[in-house]
Amino acid sequence: MAFRSVILGAPASGKGTISSRIVKTFGLEHVASGDRLRINITKNTPIGKTAKKYIEEGLLVPDDLMVNFISEEIRQIKKNIWLLDGFPRTVSQAESLWRVQKLDVVLNLVVPYNIIVDRVKGRWIHLPSGRVYNTDFNAPKVPGKDDITGEDLVQRKDDSPEIVLKRLEQYEKMTRPVINFYKEKGILEEFAGNTSDEIWPKVKSVLLNYLSEVK
Ligand code: ATP
Ligand code: MG
Repeated sequence: MAFRSVILGAPASGKGTISSRIVKTFGLEHVASGDRLRINITKNTPIGKTAKKYIEEGLLVPDDLMVNFISEEIRQIKKNIWLLDGFPRTVSQAESLWRVQKLDVVLNLVVPYNIIVDRVKGRWIHLPSGRVYNTDFNAPKVPGKDDITGEDLVQRKDDSPEIVLKRLEQYEKMTRPVINFYKEKGILEEFAGNTSDEIWPKVKSVLLNYLSEVK
């Protein structure tokens, strides 16, 4: 059994939240490029040091660096059942990935921009796991603490209003064309909604055509 997929969507469109529900329901391996980069920044690794400069400005990390980084992460996955989140983000990344690995399905989350800009204000994350909370609609049980580990939550520097606008701009310019790349391959599935709770049942029903639930 093999299943290879990608989840696309603007910054803060709920990729992380939907991905964690997919993982819980279908038990596949989740590789989130942003989470992996942030872990490297925390550990101050060479790639972390380079990536930090771009991320804090709301710019994309260069393609060659990302392709090598994610290829290595994919190589380390033991099962052939996985979901990439945050990669690819440019047509050049999508082409590189397609050369080494054809995909079964690409999920695209479509959320209005005014909702996104509003949503990042209340967003808090647990760095080591990438778990995402929102003080407005998905608050942690204890303010500022991760539900599972009890460790501190942080707000991302690049979630400040100015940088979010920059990220949305980059998304339009660099990532929007990736949607068409996959549409032309005939593997794109789109899901529109204002909240993850609204989007999730639609995603689940599409994935049930490919995978079975873990429990
Ligand atoms: P969200 O937190 O909702 O997923 P996002 O998609 O903007 O929003 P991340 O995926 O966490 O955020 O990525 C954060 C930053 O990491 C990006 O703004 C970018 O600088 C860098 N990054 C992550 N993945 C890539 C990639 N595939 N190519 C280039 N840069 C990347
Ligand atoms: Mg993310």
